[in-house]
Amino acid sequence: MDDCIFCKIIKGEIPCYKLYENDSVIAWLDIQPLSKGHLLVVPKAHYQDIHEASEETLCEVMKVARIMANKVKTELHPEAILINQNNGEKAGQTIMHYHMHIKPIYEDTHCNTEEGHRTGFPDEEMKKIEEILKVN
Ligand code: AMP
Ligand code: ZN
Repeated sequence: MDDCIFCKIIKGEIPCYKLYENDSVIAWLDIQPLSKGHLLVVPKAHYQDIHEASEETLCEVMKVARIMANKVKTELHPEAILINQNNGEKAGQTIMHYHMHIKPIYEDTHCNTEEGHRTGFPDEEMKKIEEILKVN
């Protein structure tokens, strides 16, 4: 995609701090990290989000996510690792090229939790939602 910044990085037109690369996936350091070692795992093919991406691509990204999470754990010793992937602006997606975040969480890392924002639905409502979303 011509106007996609991640496609430009993949083509080598924009530099990055590259950590890993294979035929279909690349990983680099996030330019505005939450913490030391915050990185992105990105498929080389341009897909906007999880809905567009091929199943094969999603599997390849997840394999590399684990390789990188293992590396982060071994080398940087964070307390925890948060892995997330945003779909849509409202969810925080700013670059419309599918990617996964690997965020090392240290003692002083500000880690957004959903504490205080979780709610509860009555049993009847839960059953309705169960019916709507049931796949098998
Ligand atoms: P998201 O908000 O999930 O779309 O994540 C996009 C991420 O890409 C953000 O965390 C940005 O800091 C990061 N980012 C944007 N431009 C670059 C760049 N040129 N190199 C590395 N990371 C970038
Ligand atoms: Zn792209």
